[in-house]
Amino acid sequence: MAGDGIVVVGGGIAGITAAVEVAEVGFPVDLVELAPYLGGRVIRSNRYFPKMCPPQCGLEINFRRIRKNPRVRVHTMTRVTSIEGKKGDFKVQVKVSPRFVNSKCTACGACEAVCPVERPNDFNYGLDKTKAIYLPHEMAFPNRYVIDPSVCLGKDCGKCVEVCPFGAIDLDMKEQVLTLNAGAIIWATGWDPYDASRIDYYGFGKNPNLINNVMMERLSAVGGPTGGKISRLSDGGEVRRVAFVQCAGSRDENHLPYCSGVCCSASLKQAFYVREQYPDAEVTIFYIDIRALGRLEDLYVKAKADPKITFVKGKVAEIFPDKATGELILRVEDVDKGEGITSRADLVVLATGIVPTTVKSPVPFEVPCDDYGFLVPSEETGIIPAGCVKKPVDVAHTVQDATGAALSAIQSLKRR
Ligand SMILES: Cc1cc2nc3c(=O)[nH]c(=O)nc-3n(C[C@H](O)[C@H](O)[C@H](O)COP(=O)(O)OP(=O)(O)OC[C@H]3O[C@@H](n4cnc5c(N)ncnc54)[C@H](O)[C@@H]3O)c2cc1C
Repeated sequence: MAGDGIVVVGGGIAGITAAVEVAEVGFPVDLVELAPYLGGRVIRSNRYFPKMCPPQCGLEINFRRIRKNPRVRVHTMTRVTSIEGKKGDFKVQVKVSPRFVNSKCTACGACEAVCPVERPNDFNYGLDKTKAIYLPHEMAFPNRYVIDPSVCLGKDCGKCVEVCPFGAIDLDMKEQVLTLNAGAIIWATGWDPYDASRIDYYGFGKNPNLINNVMMERLSAVGGPTGGKISRLSDGGEVRRVAFVQCAGSRDENHLPYCSGVCCSASLKQAFYVREQYPDAEVTIFYIDIRALGRLEDLYVKAKADPKITFVKGKVAEIFPDKATGELILRVEDVDKGEGITSRADLVVLATGIVPTTVKSPVPFEVPCDDYGFLVPSEETGIIPAGCVKKPVDVAHTVQDATGAALSAIQSLKRR
């Protein structure tokens, strides 16, 4: 029988939007998310432009829409392993990894307190640690603990099982394989930051005070590794000079030849994070062109008016540490001065671009992609791309795009 519902792959803002729009029209939706929580990159940001509100603002409304709509089935920790069939009639096989914590969990934290093992906190991009049993973040949806089996000591330890008052921990939980029927599939698996360690002249990964822009979101967030205090990760000290390096790998034939469109606005936003915490701190933004389009230009205008924020037009050629002071030294070709300059900072943020997740993890079905791995919409396939897996965009454009994808999916159910 042809699928009468829709499978949405990816539970970021694009996938969530598409899922609730489809379900509220009356169609069943399976929302498939790899992580143990919904929200994608947006839930990992500190605040988001243009309104600079915390990500919970927009996402919590959507979580409420999901909670009260029985037509949306959420599958976290789930990966699509195969897709068979054709537009109007797909069979989507998925593997659900065991969470080892069932729905009786109240997120009380008793298990975490007794867990003896730590692991890097992927939510905070490895900038701090969690226990082997952890709540992905304080606003996690679903608000339920999860065990990392790669570090958990299992039944040899069993302390979490003993202490849990609700019988919520099940160390025998197994992987499950499910087959979902769907008339259409929305692919909304989003993006990864460009791997800055590939830009060898910057030395990313070798100095804790050289971070990328997604790490800066966590470093500024209350739930981040320093409780929201922007500090040098080498010693926890306050920052006095912060540098933002635009187009770190972007618009560069050797790395990402395209512009990701959002990194300039992201750095402008993050410059204000610094300025709000440190009224005396100096911020320098090294750029090729500032591309803050539409109403996001307001951010640029505001930054230009701030005497503590300096814009230097020029590509940063090299970043290296000053062994005597611990500061980072940036060598830059200053275009306006027409000469090479050096600049110093105690925290450097690389504005890395957006790489579609399909580069690392392709759709297991024949779908068209552009030269960089972004999915290209195609009427025939019945697999509809949405959000940043299609092109780099901000949240507002992602939501518009996902709403359009929901409509296309509904049309393909009604027209067959
Ligand atoms: C540094 C930075 C700051 C930014 N700040 C802002 C801002 O302030 N305001 C703004 O409007 N925009 C901002 N953006 C852009 C914003 O992050 C994107 O618009 C948004 O993340 C796009 O959402 P998405 O759902 O398409 O992708 P994502 O947020 O990447 O979500 C994709 C989801 O799919 C899941 N997934 C991945 N692969 C699979 C798979 N194989 N199977 C199942 N699930 C999978 C992921 O776990 C994730 O949950 C910023 C971007 C950067 C780089």
